[in-house]
Amino acid sequence: MTRVLILGIDSAEPLQIESWIKELPTMRQLYETYYRRVQSTVPPITIPAWLTAFSGLNPGYFGLYDLRYRVPGTYTDYRLYSYRVVEHIDFIWNRASKRGLKTVLCFVPGTYPPPRIRGYVVADFFTPDTSSDFTWPRELKEEVLNVVGGEDQYIIDVYDYRRIEPRKLYRKLIEKIEHDFKILKYLLRTKDWDLAICVLMSVDRAQHTLWKYFDREHPRYVEDPELKYGLLNLYKKIDEELSNLVTQLPRDTVVIVMSDHGAKRMYARINVNEVLIQERFLKLKEKPSKPMTLKQLDEKKLIDWERTIAWSWGAYVGQVWINLEGREPKGVVKRSEYEDICRQVADALSKVRDPNGRKLNNVVHYKWNAYTGPKTTYMPDITLYFDNLHYGANEMVGFNTVYSLETAKGPDDSNHGEYAIFMCSEKPPQEVGKLEDVEKILEQILELQPP
Ligand SMILES: [Zn+2]
Repeated sequence: MTRVLILGIDSAEPLQIESWIKELPTMRQLYETYYRRVQSTVPPITIPAWLTAFSGLNPGYFGLYDLRYRVPGTYTDYRLYSYRVVEHIDFIWNRASKRGLKTVLCFVPGTYPPPRIRGYVVADFFTPDTSSDFTWPRELKEEVLNVVGGEDQYIIDVYDYRRIEPRKLYRKLIEKIEHDFKILKYLLRTKDWDLAICVLMSVDRAQHTLWKYFDREHPRYVEDPELKYGLLNLYKKIDEELSNLVTQLPRDTVVIVMSDHGAKRMYARINVNEVLIQERFLKLKEKPSKPMTLKQLDEKKLIDWERTIAWSWGAYVGQVWINLEGREPKGVVKRSEYEDICRQVADALSKVRDPNGRKLNNVVHYKWNAYTGPKTTYMPDITLYFDNLHYGANEMVGFNTVYSLETAKGPDDSNHGEYAIFMCSEKPPQEVGKLEDVEKILEQILELQPP
């Protein structure tokens, strides 16, 4: 019986891995055996991407496009993701459980509250605090806290990573990698398992702040002799820890290193709702006196929904909804006009240029092409990758400009990229071209029945 260990590096970008692989000897062994750039989901965002990889299902099955999702029947109310939203889905860990196999899930995005699987779970960064039940079984929590030296030493996430002083952030992220491997090694050494999945968030957290120190083409590039190697050193640290871990694994273990999406330098964000206002698709009753989120505008009753055709959410990509009759509380767009209006709105947004008037490589994904599954109806009608993701998005209104560097979340050096990485210690039974393929590979290696 073959076992599988997946080490997920959230946000690991193919171009970075490819240029740094010579300095990562453990990953290099996998890379030289089997490596592919893998198409991420639309949108290339953590929650839908990992859930797709481990279920083989399009995000239209979950109705998820971000860490939050809009409450149906409202314009701006949202809920934060929880595993409860997807617990009916047949993830690889459920399929493995049904076949009597044991799974270890360690920090896998989307696993809070922890699924009650045959095996062991330490939940992800959605864990609210250490007093919560973030492990499965519950008793595991005590063991996990002991491994890191007590409750006050347990690190759920490195918070506010967009604003921490960069050197301090770098040190915290190195610490977090050590912390995560301590727990992973402990679980793999002391528990019985067939499939183990661990996802590290440190590279993702680093990229939003440390990208400008190594990328000379970054518009805010900073020459810094130490931080220049910040991101590379995080990868080296992961490689070193992985090398150490691999020596402890049973010989029959297949090792996979993969990501959920990539990353690329971000020039600025497009204030999508400002563009929609200029193009007369979004109507305000009154302009706000300072920048506000859509929800704040709505609470102040500043949005004229009866005359609004489209509005947008999103920080990495533009997520646009059409004010559709019968679906939205004050819908004005008729079903018969829906696709036509989608195209008009997408065309208007695609014409956005850079601050110097240069053309951007804007990419449009329509809902009817991007999604399948029972919850497709909840997905944004249009998803826009501004300059193919070199520009992010921003929903706030009141800047009086189409471009901004900061959002409510803070400044940001990098956006997500549309490709992820996949490397494996042996040639997989079939090609991996997109995230959906990962689940099929795992089923075959673990010899599970097809669904
Ligand atoms: Zn991610």
